Amino acid sequence: MKNFSFHNPTRLHFGRGQIAQLDSEIGKDARVLLVYGGGSIKRNGVHAQVMAALGQRTVVEFAGIEANPEFDTLMRAVALGKENGVDWVLGVGGGSVLDGSKFIAAALALDPAVDPWLIVGNKTPLHAALPIGCVLTLPATGSEANFTGVITRRETQDKLSFKNAAVYPRFSVLDPTVIDSLPARQLGNGLVDAFVHTTEQYLTYPAEARVQDRLAEGILSTLVEVAPLLRQNQGDYDAQANLMWAANQAMFGLVPLGQPLDWASHAIGHELTVLYGLDHAQTLAIALPSLLRYKFDAKRAKLAQYGRRVWQLNGDDDEVANAAIEATRRFFESAGLPTRLSGYGIDDVAAAAAGVEAQLIRHQRLKLGEHGDITPADCRAIVLAAG
Ligand code: NAP
Ligand code: FE
Repeated sequence: MKNFSFHNPTRLHFGRGQIAQLDSEIGKDARVLLVYGGGSIKRNGVHAQVMAALGQRTVVEFAGIEANPEFDTLMRAVALGKENGVDWVLGVGGGSVLDGSKFIAAALALDPAVDPWLIVGNKTPLHAALPIGCVLTLPATGSEANFTGVITRRETQDKLSFKNAAVYPRFSVLDPTVIDSLPARQLGNGLVDAFVHTTEQYLTYPAEARVQDRLAEGILSTLVEVAPLLRQNQGDYDAQANLMWAANQAMFGLVPLGQPLDWASHAIGHELTVLYGLDHAQTLAIALPSLLRYKFDAKRAKLAQYGRRVWQLNGDDDEVANAAIEATRRFFESAGLPTRLSGYGIDDVAAAAAGVEAQLIRHQRLKLGEHGDITPADCRAIVLAAG
């Protein structure tokens, strides 16, 4: 196991009715910028619960954060926040709203002489951010308790992340009943994103990090178990609770400790979203199985462990590792996410593969994977094989 230091300062309020905790978390005289998406929180009653919990506090609302949050939209929220002298940012939504809230909170605390786009990709140091609170409505990204934001600028074809301890949320509310209103497509996306976050921190090479391996296997097995329950019966509270906690724990920071990491599927995925507008999780369903096949030799031992422990497969390492990749692919398909580009109507696979390669070069993502040996040319081959 490699050395590590760990601290996650986000307080979690988990369960039914926990939106009421906003009242204990945010000061009575706070001026709150309430940030949300396209309106699902108005239709499912979450907005009403948030407003009730905020009571007499001053609330300035910014609606309209889109999936894959756009820099220009977020800058309009920053301007509204400045105009109104807000001192808290409360994000209510899925990963897009929460990532956007992190950017907004950081931009509001930035030296006005610095271009806020430099926050993205960590091109300027961040010393502070406004305090952030979250009400999660889509279990998937783990953004509610991590220090990452992913921001898009479509005009320049950039989808890039930033990481900074200043944007850890102070607190997050995880109420599993919000899943009642989640469309099947987003439920599938959540299952796959949480699954791939876990595999990217686990399917590398054995590193004697046994607790972290078991955590990863526990999260993956839980996702496999609850997926059919959620499909059969939307409203199964215990299944929803386990999905929400699994997605959170996948990105809470414990799984990667002391482990080698391989974020190449996310790197490929971000470029596919920017080029073709696919949902984040759809790109991962395409990239991961193909990447596992491409790096089969390097990942064989861990794939075999994964196959035996998560999928209860038997046989020699080669057989189990191969069958584990196939089980993973079938799991994504059963969640409603095709694992081939053609499943999304992308037929010019060579163009897609070349596009991803060019984008990764432009973004300087030159040495990906746990060994730093996955180049943009390898990513081109990985996408090509997923045609
Ligand atoms: P999302 O983009 O936040 O939301 C997708 C859709 O789901 C929106 O149309 C939203 O509608 C709807 N929705 C959300 N909650 C709902 C509910 N309870 N009921 C009905 N509809 C609901 O999806 P996401 O998968 O959570 O986030 C994806 C983004 O996060 C991507 O940009 C991805 O790159 C990023 N990401 C971040 C991290 C991280 O660590 N920070 C990790 C992985 C991915 P409304 O807009 O109407 O609310
Ligand atoms: Fe993700």
